[in-house]
Amino acid sequence: MTVRAYREIQRRKSRQVMVGAVPVGGDAPITVQSMTNTPTSDAAATIAQVQALEEAGADIVRVSCPDVESTAALKAIVRAAKVPIVADIHFHYKRAIEAAEAGAACLRINPGNIGSAARVREVVKAARDHGCSMRIGVNAGSLERHLLEKYGEPCPEAMVESALDHARILEDNDFREFKISCKASDVFLAVAAYQQLADACDYPLHLGITEAGGLRGGTVKSAIGMGSLLWAGIGDTIRVSLSADPVEEIKAGFEILKSLGLRRRGVTVISCPSCARQQFDVIRTVEILEERLAHITTPMTLSVIGCVVNGPGEARETDLGFTGGGNNTHQVYVAGVPHHRLKDAGIVDHLVEMVEKKVAEIEAAKAAETAAQVEPADAAAS
Ligand code: SF4
Repeated sequence: MTVRAYREIQRRKSRQVMVGAVPVGGDAPITVQSMTNTPTSDAAATIAQVQALEEAGADIVRVSCPDVESTAALKAIVRAAKVPIVADIHFHYKRAIEAAEAGAACLRINPGNIGSAARVREVVKAARDHGCSMRIGVNAGSLERHLLEKYGEPCPEAMVESALDHARILEDNDFREFKISCKASDVFLAVAAYQQLADACDYPLHLGITEAGGLRGGTVKSAIGMGSLLWAGIGDTIRVSLSADPVEEIKAGFEILKSLGLRRRGVTVISCPSCARQQFDVIRTVEILEERLAHITTPMTLSVIGCVVNGPGEARETDLGFTGGGNNTHQVYVAGVPHHRLKDAGIVDHLVEMVEKKVAEIEAAKAAETAAQVEPADAAAS
């Protein structure tokens, strides 16, 4: 029981599977993933995009493998990537086997679509031989015909039945290293399907609101859909699907998790919308600050508030605070306490410098703590 019980999220208990070295499910941190949109056969372009996603904080990256040229390029992509690579396969079981052989950490494949039982066995064997997990990916837009006939339209029950049918095929092959997604572009449908699926099994769930739209609309829609599920404790890995640069998907994913206190990464800026009371240009300042602080991965908070109406209160809750003051007497706070005054000139440079100093302090404290934990063990060993 914590002091602020209203902030607690009880995560659904799920099995844990490994995607390469990254655990998904159980008590593992909720991971953020995205997908490349370069031709996978163009290894150099795909590697560059994987690296951009890694820099943005991606835990897992998926690449499509629609043809043999793609799985041929996969080996080089996997070798160059620091994060585990998921191979996205539709229908062609041979691509799945090639992807497993090329070092994919996970296959996104629906076993019900592979064809004969013998082919499924071959894919499962390849996955097992190469330490690959799998993801069953149900999509409301591509439900099996018999389920559409049974239910009349894509609905949560049909999606869950589809997911469990695919799952059973893998279970019958004694393979349980998989997670499941149940995506729809309709928020109500996706959320209801995930809720029912969460009750029906203990497999880790990959959340997504599919074809969510462009940067702004898609982010909002994903935040509502995935946000309500995550708030209810459902979801072990997430992908925000945007018609935008995949790097934006990672940024949006982290913002969703940060909003719910489920992950912390980089500088969380608390800032006001500004109004006639602002004592400096809040919007421009925050825009530049976000750009200049984007490289920081150490979790910390910074409040940037236009005036004293809300500035001191927000500063109390953040590591560093900045509040606009009249007559060019802005106030800087450290750990919630007024620290020094600042004039208009050089606000951004000064705040960036302070954040970087704070980050160095946090990292040094972390290193000292780790060293202190290692030392007694060393002493015991010697
Ligand atoms: S904190 Fe001050 S400047 Fe910012 S919106 Fe509120 S009243 Fe306006």
